[in-house]
Amino acid sequence: MTENGSIVIVGAGQAGGWAAKTLRAEGYAGHIVLVGDEPHPPHERPPLSKAVLAGSSEPDVCHLFKSDAFAALNLECEPGERATSIDRQARTVLTDRGRRLPYDRLILATGSRVRKLVIPGADLPGVFYLRTIADALALRERLTTGARLLVVGGGWIGLEAAATARKRGVAVTVLEAADRLCARAASPELSEYLARLHAGHGVEVRLQAGLQSLRSAPDGGIVALLADGTELAADAVVIGVGIIPNVELAKEAGLEVRNGIVVDDQGRTSDPNIFAAGDVTDQPGARLGRRVRLESWQNAQDQAIVAAKAALGGDARHDPLPWFWSDQYEANIQMLGLPERWPEAVRRGDPASGTFSLFYLKGAEIEALVSVNAPRDLRAARRLIEQHKPVRAADLADPEKNLQKL
Ligand SMILES: Cc1cc2nc3c(=O)[nH]c(=O)nc-3n(C[C@H](O)[C@H](O)[C@H](O)COP(=O)(O)OP(=O)(O)OC[C@H]3O[C@@H](n4cnc5c(N)ncnc54)[C@H](O)[C@@H]3O)c2cc1C
Repeated sequence: MTENGSIVIVGAGQAGGWAAKTLRAEGYAGHIVLVGDEPHPPHERPPLSKAVLAGSSEPDVCHLFKSDAFAALNLECEPGERATSIDRQARTVLTDRGRRLPYDRLILATGSRVRKLVIPGADLPGVFYLRTIADALALRERLTTGARLLVVGGGWIGLEAAATARKRGVAVTVLEAADRLCARAASPELSEYLARLHAGHGVEVRLQAGLQSLRSAPDGGIVALLADGTELAADAVVIGVGIIPNVELAKEAGLEVRNGIVVDDQGRTSDPNIFAAGDVTDQPGARLGRRVRLESWQNAQDQAIVAAKAALGGDARHDPLPWFWSDQYEANIQMLGLPERWPEAVRRGDPASGTFSLFYLKGAEIEALVSVNAPRDLRAARRLIEQHKPVRAADLADPEKNLQKL
């Protein structure tokens, strides 16, 4: 592509920002338009449920680029503009400001949005979600000492909100419909640990709890009615029941969409001029042995880098070894790998000590790892997984054995 060319990126989150940065890093000197519908510069989300919600940082910590680095990228980017349709024949993107943006290559990084709860009272004032900067700031205002927070959904976002709220002196109850926390992405042993961690910090965790409705209370608060007839009073409710990929733009343009926008290991969609990256993609996952849609910061970044290089004709490939982290209270929790089924764990260290790792083996190799306050174990395990090194469970379980030397 030439300096007269144009690349349009839709979505100014982690994936969109990294796609733009990579295009320039790879020497692309043509025009880049970054279309993002949120009223902020390109930004990431992890601090929103942690430092920003806690009040120890302001939202600008989420910005992907300092202002001079952003200027140096020389992007056309006016926050708050939405792409409304793609004309694949004419190779243009139409926006809600009536602009028609021509492209040689288009990168879709439209991410995901929260799944809304459909029950009576779900739209009452005092009911929040946690996805955007505005969400985090609105919820933060309600997290004052002595307030009561009801968290609906015991997944990662709900649990981080619970931990942050406890730090701010808020009384917290977590409702989870399944029989364990983070059931979709965590191993049973990790779920148990999380339940103990939160209980130890004074959170009331209710499993197999169905929420039927919310209603306003005379004191200005909210009353939640559970399926078993229990009523719970709260000052605020935060709902974290999953996300939905923003596939509509791609679907309406006739691109192949299944669990997300279908891409190959270069981020290429069913149209050779259109690429996609991040939460919105349904990708091959060769290492995992199945197609996956990953909802993680690292995947958004790595896949965007590959997609941007591929858009310029490069040959990089993305075969994710899923990595995810969460910070709750004093625990830094990291997970590597994503088995379809969790085999029995090999434990290293004592969960009661607050520092331990759980290894999950497939044959003689490590398939996945959970580490709590044990980043060294994670680094060693990553190498063992990437190099397909056979290991012995007894060595992993023995804290005297140096994992780096295995
Ligand atoms: C509160 C919170 C905490 C998190 N913490 C962690 C963590 O600790 N670790 C971790 O690994 N992951 C974490 N995640 C997940 C991680 O943030 C996501 O996986 C990541 O944001 C995905 O990046 P993305 O660019 O694909 O999508 P997004 O961040 O969703 O960005 C997509 C952007 O595109 C915009 N957009 C969509 N459609 C259009 C359109 N038509 N026109 C213009 N713009 C459009 C969206 O509004 C959005 O701004 C967290 C997520 C949240 C919400």
